[in-house]
Amino acid sequence: MLHRIVALVLVLAPTVAEAQLCEGQSAAIAPDGRAFGHLPYGDAPESELVTLPSEYSVGNPCVVRADMLPDLLRLFAAAQGDPSVMGQLRALSCQRSIARQRSVFCRGETSSAADRAISVAPPGYSEHSTGYALDFAVRPANGCPDAEACMAATPAARWLRLNAPRFGFEQSFPGGNKQHVKWEPWHWRWVGASGSARGAPKARFVFARARRLYPADPGVVPLVVKFSAPPPLPTPVAPPPSRSKKKRR
Ligand SMILES: [Zn+2]
Repeated sequence: MLHRIVALVLVLAPTVAEAQLCEGQSAAIAPDGRAFGHLPYGDAPESELVTLPSEYSVGNPCVVRADMLPDLLRLFAAAQGDPSVMGQLRALSCQRSIARQRSVFCRGETSSAADRAISVAPPGYSEHSTGYALDFAVRPANGCPDAEACMAATPAARWLRLNAPRFGFEQSFPGGNKQHVKWEPWHWRWVGASGSARGAPKARFVFARARRLYPADPGVVPLVVKFSAPPPLPTPVAPPPSRSKKKRR
C-alpha cells in the first residue's frame, strides 16, 4: 500500500523544468520560460548574418542580422554627424551564438551560475544569439569604463537614448526593469522603427514576449493613428453679385 502512495505522490508532484547551462550546472525555468530572469532565444540562421564595416566596431567583428544593418548604419551616420557624439559611438559586441555564449558563461567556474547570470545571460537565454541585439561602447573611453552609470552619463549614450528608437532600436534592460536583469545602458535590440519596415515583423516576433511582459525604455513606440472628428465645414458665404459676365475657363 505504502509503495502505491509513494508512487502517487511522485506522479502528482509538480515537475520543475531545468535548463542545462554548463557541465554540472543547471537553472530552474520559471513559468514564463525565464532562467535567472533571462528569456529564452534561439540562434540566428548563419545565412541571415552580415558583418558591420569595421570602422564602426571595436574588438571582434560585429555580426548582425542583414535586416538590421541598414538601420544600424543610418544610426552610426547620424551619430557621427552630431557634434555632441563626435563619432565616439562604436559596436562592441553583436551576435553571439549559443555555443559562444556557453563558452563565455561557463568559464567563470569559481562563481555560481546565479551570480554569473547577473552580468552574463546564460546560453540559450541571450538576445545576442538572435543577431538583433548589440552592445554599444564609447571610444575613446577617456577614463570611463564600460560601467552603467559612467557610460549612461556620456554625451554619446545620451544621444543614443534620444535617437536610437527612431532607427528602430530600443533599450532592452532599463534600470529597475521588472525582468530583474541588471541595467544595461549599452544593450539595444532592433525591432524596426515601424512594423512594416523590412524584417521588422520577424524581429518583433522574436521579441514579442519580452516586449509584452517587460517593455523596453526607451522603446520603439507603435505608430498610433488617431482618428478624430473632422473639422466643421466653413459656412458658405454667398458670392457678391457679379456686374459683368466672365467666361468660364
Ligand atoms: Zn548585450
